[in-house]
Amino acid sequence: MDIADEAQRRSAYFHELAMQNRAFDLPPVPPRNKAPDGTPLCVDCDLDITERRRIIGSAQRCSDCQHDHEKRNRNHG
Ligand SMILES: [Zn+2]
Repeated sequence: MDIADEAQRRSAYFHELAMQNRAFDLPPVPPRNKAPDGTPLCVDCDLDITERRRIIGSAQRCSDCQHDHEKRNRNHG
């Protein structure tokens, strides 16, 4: 096996992975919607998104609302 081919394949694989996970690469941002005790809440439905923000530091919505939000955005134009 050619080592250069293998390196090329691997780097393409990681690039693809990075593209798929680009939301996870965003720097954490302060939650826009918070409970008085600082618990981050979904901006749309006030659900506790602490766990979600542990994975996606920039999340402002619960997974349901994020899904709806992306669907609405896609239908916009
Ligand atoms: Zn929500």
